[in-house]
Amino acid sequence: MDKIVALCKRRGFIFQNSEIYGGQNGFWDYGPLGTELKRNVRGVWYDDMVATHNELVQEESAPSTYQMVGLETAIIMHPQVWKCSGHYDLFHDMMVDCHACKGRFRQDHIPATACPQKPSKTVGEHTGCSLTEPREFNLMMKTIIGALGTEEDAAFLRPETAQGIFVNFRNVVDSSRVKLPFGISQVGKSFRNEITPRNFTFRSREFEQMEIEFFCHPDQSRDWYTYWRDRRYRWYQKLGISSERLILRDHHQEELAHYSVGTADIEYAFPFLNEGEYGELEGIAHRGDFDLRSHMEGKLAKDANGELAVELTADGQPKHRGSGKDLTYFDDQRRERFLPHVIEPSAGADRATLAFLCEAYHEDAQPDDKGDMQERVVMKFHPRLAPVKAAVFPLIKKDGMPEKAMQVYGDLKAAGISVQYDQQGAIGRRYRRQDEIGTPYCLTIDGDTAEDGCVTIRDRDSLTQERIPVNRIVDEIQSRLRG
Ligand code: ATP
Repeated sequence: MDKIVALCKRRGFIFQNSEIYGGQNGFWDYGPLGTELKRNVRGVWYDDMVATHNELVQEESAPSTYQMVGLETAIIMHPQVWKCSGHYDLFHDMMVDCHACKGRFRQDHIPATACPQKPSKTVGEHTGCSLTEPREFNLMMKTIIGALGTEEDAAFLRPETAQGIFVNFRNVVDSSRVKLPFGISQVGKSFRNEITPRNFTFRSREFEQMEIEFFCHPDQSRDWYTYWRDRRYRWYQKLGISSERLILRDHHQEELAHYSVGTADIEYAFPFLNEGEYGELEGIAHRGDFDLRSHMEGKLAKDANGELAVELTADGQPKHRGSGKDLTYFDDQRRERFLPHVIEPSAGADRATLAFLCEAYHEDAQPDDKGDMQERVVMKFHPRLAPVKAAVFPLIKKDGMPEKAMQVYGDLKAAGISVQYDQQGAIGRRYRRQDEIGTPYCLTIDGDTAEDGCVTIRDRDSLTQERIPVNRIVDEIQSRLRG
């Protein structure tokens, strides 16, 4: 992990936030290459889930055809949203402080957390440890709207993007002619006041989510749950995460939220975890009609019979009133009105980016220009995710090579392919610079190019080299990226 963190800083993937002021715990900045990588993670997710989804053709594993649309909602929402979603009352962790070391810990993390005191032991194991009773700590970040700054002007930064989708359900149905089943997706920032942000970007206080709320008829919700769970697992595999390090973990019945018939996590064996441990990349939850019903009627809880009902205060008043707006859906074909059920695949863009970075990191040895073996660090990103797709090298800075190389570079740029131009140093060093940032294809313009009109394309992983006509380069790179 230390090597990956060092590479991220050295090559400009991820920097500590506000580093020149000593950093800000739980916040991270993406450098030039990290920006491209994360942009690709988001872009590939949106393309695969929404933009290229064909609503007219039924996928083999899908219960039927379906539609997908996108949405972008504000980070700050009406405070009532968080009351009805349950975040205001329930979104907290239990926090424990230590009087001795002044450490602050999440209670459920204590068995796996090292005490800052030496020799290394877990929290609570030193004789001097003096832990407080666990206290509740709401994870939502508060802010103030407007000039007066009173408690009534308090608002929250969203802790998830999902609620923006639920409160716009009616708007989307009324404006876009979508018919059930359909999904609404949203990519955007979320904020959680994590007690102990740690493990690089894995647990941050500001992070980005890629969420889908998939609305369907209650009778079909189990089938759709299975479809999304399996499809989302395959997505990570297709982008190069090995199945040895990726698991799909179905939650036990007792782990499930009261409204859910099923939840599964997609988890990755991050290198900062112990052997056999996995960290969550994405959760896929069957949420029933909990969210739409809460926003319609008021915050729900289990009543005395174990049924979901509007939660009441001691004097019998609704604890948090819903919007009172009708969020039911009328199905023309079934001639039936109902509250749709929801399947929610909820992924973290930063955690996915971190998993792709960890998975890509490889060390090997390759011969240099003189044939001597040299250690090489190579980031084996899937070509669709690689921040730079191609690099163009004129072998020497004369005999028309730079001009030809600049033409190739310009053609690739014009086609929207992220490309770098490098004429510095021996060719082997140029390859190594690109290998270290995971560029899948390097193109060399040499003395023969002027005669045969071809350049050499070298593949990062197989190291095979082929001659390709200059006028076919853009097509060739595009087809390799697609393939
Ligand atoms: P955890 O148990 O790790 O705190 P969670 O179960 O609370 O995660 P969800 O509420 O299901 O997470 O959020 C969906 C996704 O958002 C997670 O799978 C993860 O990828 C991402 N995510 C959640 N919290 C964070 C965080 N603090 N930093 C980075 N990503 C996060």
